[in-house]
Amino acid sequence: MYDPIVEPYPKSYQQYPNSYWANSIEKFPETTSLVNDIQADIAIIGAGYTGLSSAYHLAKKYGKSVVVIDANEPGWGCSGRNAGFVLPGTGRLSLFDMENKWGEATAQGVFHEYMTSIDTVNDLIEQGNIDCDKTAGGYLKLAHKRTKVETLRKQADKLRERYGESVKFICSQDVSNSFLRSGNMYGGIYFDKSFAVNPMKLVLGYYEMASKAGVKVFSNSPVKKWQQKSNHHCLYTQNGRVTAEKVIIATNGYTGTKMHKLVNHRHFPVLSSIIVTRPLTDSELSSIGLKTGLMAMDTRRMKYYYRLLPDNRILFGGRGAIQGKNADKPIIKKRLLDGLKNTFPVLSTVEVEHFWSGWVSATYDNYPRINHSDDKGIYYSMGYCGSGLAFSTLAGKRLAQSICEPESLPDLPFWQSQLPKFPFAQFRRAGLGAYYAFASLRD
Ligand SMILES: Cc1cc2nc3c(=O)[nH]c(=O)nc-3n(C[C@H](O)[C@H](O)[C@H](O)COP(=O)(O)OP(=O)(O)OC[C@H]3O[C@@H](n4cnc5c(N)ncnc54)[C@H](O)[C@@H]3O)c2cc1C
Repeated sequence: MYDPIVEPYPKSYQQYPNSYWANSIEKFPETTSLVNDIQADIAIIGAGYTGLSSAYHLAKKYGKSVVVIDANEPGWGCSGRNAGFVLPGTGRLSLFDMENKWGEATAQGVFHEYMTSIDTVNDLIEQGNIDCDKTAGGYLKLAHKRTKVETLRKQADKLRERYGESVKFICSQDVSNSFLRSGNMYGGIYFDKSFAVNPMKLVLGYYEMASKAGVKVFSNSPVKKWQQKSNHHCLYTQNGRVTAEKVIIATNGYTGTKMHKLVNHRHFPVLSSIIVTRPLTDSELSSIGLKTGLMAMDTRRMKYYYRLLPDNRILFGGRGAIQGKNADKPIIKKRLLDGLKNTFPVLSTVEVEHFWSGWVSATYDNYPRINHSDDKGIYYSMGYCGSGLAFSTLAGKRLAQSICEPESLPDLPFWQSQLPKFPFAQFRRAGLGAYYAFASLRD
């Protein structure tokens, strides 16, 4: 598997992973690669949610000419292979972490931005009439130990005071009566605005909306060389070139080693993996009591996340391998299956029918940035730390605003500083191995 810590860019003509989502698409759009020289106001590298949402907003709202180039097909990165949780958040900072770091008012502004990101996905689904199997059901963040329950209760109380009934604490008893029955999950925070989607159908919907708005999207055209001139940029692919006044880097966890100094060594690509089971039987379903459409994640350092799919299979995800070359090893699949059986012991004989992995982008200080170079016309948004479906959609819109209407951006930390560099970046992987060992002991 492509490994962004050691390779400069993803090679072209790589298949989508053999995921449940890719198998759900009857006909993928026919795309073309870049084979000539082309000019645009703005060139965007990466055709996932970030790139396609910014392209759509730049073309539709601000009338810009936009070219998007991807190393593979649209949605080949994380956007076509995630779990489809439309979440009220990004990064890894809790509400209390944010209050300690930025103060109450800013933390509140950030949380408001998270809720706005869910609305933004909803708006685009409506505007584009995207059929992405949207399923209401809400999101439950669950304590995996009794000792974690009190912290979640305090967070829920605080959030509810500000955001009303759409956020509430659910005690252990109510979790098993109304949401799911598990041997090792306790109380949690429930967000009823969250919903689930088929992430591949969503990204292909964004692709269609951007194309209809006049954006030119080229597939199988990795950017291999970048020349920065005084007032424009040239991006070179195998057989073509894009010249543009501004460039947006929208490559998140798939950003290779030599993208640009604004982002190099400033994020850490980490693998997350997913298994999908066969459809559960009626008796298995009634034993686990998992509410249709519910998305759940636990409070482990190495989190598990899961949902019941519309055809009664369980999707179950968690940490992947450390290196790309080990992403598909059976041990990774087994670890997830063990996690699933531990969560729902009654599923001890369930078979797995799909297994795949993708790169999420972690940052040194656990939250993403939507930022730009001071004078060179280079913009980026990345570092969603594994929760970027909703936020990257909004980030795309914010990137368009920051180019065309910067005064309209809310005053938030995402665009007040650059992504910080990882100290000792070459040792990130060794550090991750040590962290996984420590975290599994603590969990
Ligand atoms: C297993 C898994 C489960 C997840 N589940 C969830 C979830 O349920 N909810 C949630 O909120 N988030 C989830 N995420 C995270 C979420 O999917 C991402 O945050 C989001 O998709 C990021 O979108 P993006 O457009 O920024 O990047 P991507 O979709 O990753 O797109 C980046 C693109 O850049 C392209 N690229 C890279 N380098 C070059 C180059 N040199 N030239 C041209 N193109 C290039 C790649 O080909 C790729 O298509 C999950 C991630 C994984 C891996």
